[in-house]
Amino acid sequence: MSTVQIHINRRQYLELQNVATGVFAPLCGFMNESEFNSVVRTMRLPAGDPFPLPVVFDVTSDTARRLREGDRLALVFEGTEVGEIEVNSWFTCDKGSAAEKVYGTSDARHPGVAHFFEMGDWFVSGPARLFRRLPFEFSDYDLTPAESRAHFACQGWKTVVGFQTRNVPHRAHEYLLRLALEQADGLFVQPLVGTKKRGDYTPQAILGGYRALIDHFLPSQRVLLGVLTTSMRYAGPREALFHAIIRRNFGCTHFVVGRDHAGVGEYYGKYEAHELTRQFDGDLGIEILRFFGPFFCARCDGIVTERTCPHAEDMPGATKQISGTDMRALLQDGGPCPPELMRPEIVDAVRGVPLFIDEDGE
Ligand SMILES: [Zn+2]
Repeated sequence: MSTVQIHINRRQYLELQNVATGVFAPLCGFMNESEFNSVVRTMRLPAGDPFPLPVVFDVTSDTARRLREGDRLALVFEGTEVGEIEVNSWFTCDKGSAAEKVYGTSDARHPGVAHFFEMGDWFVSGPARLFRRLPFEFSDYDLTPAESRAHFACQGWKTVVGFQTRNVPHRAHEYLLRLALEQADGLFVQPLVGTKKRGDYTPQAILGGYRALIDHFLPSQRVLLGVLTTSMRYAGPREALFHAIIRRNFGCTHFVVGRDHAGVGEYYGKYEAHELTRQFDGDLGIEILRFFGPFFCARCDGIVTERTCPHAEDMPGATKQISGTDMRALLQDGGPCPPELMRPEIVDAVRGVPLFIDEDGE
């Protein structure tokens, strides 16, 4: 038994941190081969707990060749040992066939699939320990599950809705947050700021936008703003389930799944995540709030959904979809934004902030 030292990237560091602090409970280590296969094929761990996506620690085949069972894998980030894995086993897989099951495609143009293919081909499993957290610009928002649970308890919130986002908030997001606040004691807005792809919003823009919305337009004492430091997988319905399980671990009782949750391009149906999460109702330890995509209707004069407005069919000119793509273009232009789509205060809050990520993250 010996120590094998390897250098890890930011993505691996964040995964280590999440595994070690219970963000991915019931996991307390990186998956072994039987857990991986079970999750890929059935969306459950071998013991039966719902778990839709692999959580693996990837290494190159060179590293895999040096390993012996019982070794200590010392994880070094920028010159400092930040954690370790007690090596129980290691395995490889047919990545194409795993991608087909997890992402519904093995098309390398899908950003989640492309990333999975670029990772090391071997996966090391075993209990993981973290020695120090990754400090970064938004560490104040980076709560552990124990910390968010303590906050909810201290506030006396019995019900808390978790809200996943990776955007600067527009009026449709705001509508969903208000629906959540109508139903629960508290709201946990937790933008994902782990590694994302080029063209996604920066954490600065997302947090700046939400700070403005929460401080000026929502009952801020009933809202907690945090960050989730994991990678986007762009795995659509499976990732919606994953995001719900994570928020359960942070102490939420409810979780919002909207239109095309965690989707990318045209890979997933707009409400496929509603259908998949429904199959796990009663089994997740968190209740899913399935919401339709809100839009603006000039006839109703407000934000509505297809469940509350009758005009989408007979007065299509009256309705205006609030598309993420259009909002990006408007923000990038820096000109005025229609206030019925995005609040001027939010446009102001992100003015001068770098809006988009320049390069694919690692
Ligand atoms: Zn209407």
